[in-house]
Amino acid sequence: MRKRERQPSPGLTIVSYRNLCRPIRKKRPRPTKDGIEMQQADTLARTGDRIAFGQLVELLTTILVRHGANDHVAGIIARNCAMCERDGCTSHGVFRMAGYASSLDCGWVDGTAVPTVEDAAPAYCRVDARNGFAQPALESAHETAVDKARRTGLAAIAIRGSHHLSALWPDVEPFARGGLIAFSVVNSFRCTVPHGGDRPLFGTNPIAFAVPRTGDDPLVFDMATSAIPNGDVQIAARTGQPLPQGVGVDANGAPTTNPGAVLNGGALLTFGGHKGSALSMMVELLAAGLTGGHFSHEFDWSGHDGAQTPHTGQFVLLIDPQHAGGRPFGERVETLIKDMRSAGVQRLPADRRYRNRKRAEREGIRIGAEERARLDALLEG
Ligand code: NDP
Repeated sequence: MRKRERQPSPGLTIVSYRNLCRPIRKKRPRPTKDGIEMQQADTLARTGDRIAFGQLVELLTTILVRHGANDHVAGIIARNCAMCERDGCTSHGVFRMAGYASSLDCGWVDGTAVPTVEDAAPAYCRVDARNGFAQPALESAHETAVDKARRTGLAAIAIRGSHHLSALWPDVEPFARGGLIAFSVVNSFRCTVPHGGDRPLFGTNPIAFAVPRTGDDPLVFDMATSAIPNGDVQIAARTGQPLPQGVGVDANGAPTTNPGAVLNGGALLTFGGHKGSALSMMVELLAAGLTGGHFSHEFDWSGHDGAQTPHTGQFVLLIDPQHAGGRPFGERVETLIKDMRSAGVQRLPADRRYRNRKRAEREGIRIGAEERARLDALLEG
């Protein structure tokens, strides 16, 4: 992989964050194809330290193009990153822009890669991301996979040669909005000790699951199989906060709450001891073993100063509940949720995100001064 010469894109308007405060016209929000309400770039004035979703997408797209991604790839990653920020998933929001830019700058990831989709079997798509980001690879297989799931009841998407640095819920939620059950796993980079082991081998390896609901937002969970994600450790190191007990070890394998010690030669532990470790192992096997991608411990980025995006794989499974027997699945989902509520459950997975999303649609997305300065620096190059 060659270090990339960064060129200003012809015809590209460089917008600084400050310029996004310009007066704007009001338009009605329009639903996107994945059903998530998106406000157009000019629908919401930035007030104080808040910015409209569309404006944030525009800004992040410009940054990514400036660092070597083409318009198509930049648009997908920018939107994904803005969605994380909007929903309050700060460990995978604009905080990650430096990592995207750095990986693009050093030529570790190809921001212009065109994925290839192979129709491998009636319910199986193979995708080669060709050293590009996972999200454009997933998008390239979206239509084929949905069509397969509707016809056969199931569809697997096996993506290899991909880089994933984001939350996983944006990958599954749109399928559930289209009426499908979606499950996805992605492996990352060697930073987590398998239960019973004495050195890191697994990634932080998240699992996401989404089911459609009748007349409501999909029910979604998305979680790392490490005790906490690596992004949280980086944020703790940046803000000088200690880590919770029991999530990490230092370079000697001793328990530590010091984020610096975890990041510099230490490692994370899996959540729930042997149980989280078994799930993390499953993620390695599905996201890498099955797809043809690298295991988290297999790829070597030591020769790429600045590489920050794991070069691994992703697995997605879609199920069409229309083919299920017994009572309609939608009815069963609502029954379970009602019974959980009766059992005292106040908060379902994704409730927090949907609440943040609604607030962001009303008030814009808050970007603090430090983050704003970092984004402006990335715009400069
Ligand atoms: P959390 O532990 O914060 O949350 C996990 C899930 O549990 C979420 O769906 C969350 O919903 C839900 N939840 C949290 N608290 C409660 C509660 N009290 N009651 C009910 N549900 C609850 O997630 P993690 O810290 O483990 O992971 C954060 C993100 O990091 C994920 O999006 C993951 O995909 C991402 N990640 C990405 C990696 C990559 O390589 N690309 C690697 C590792 C992690 P809600 O969303 O509403 O809070």
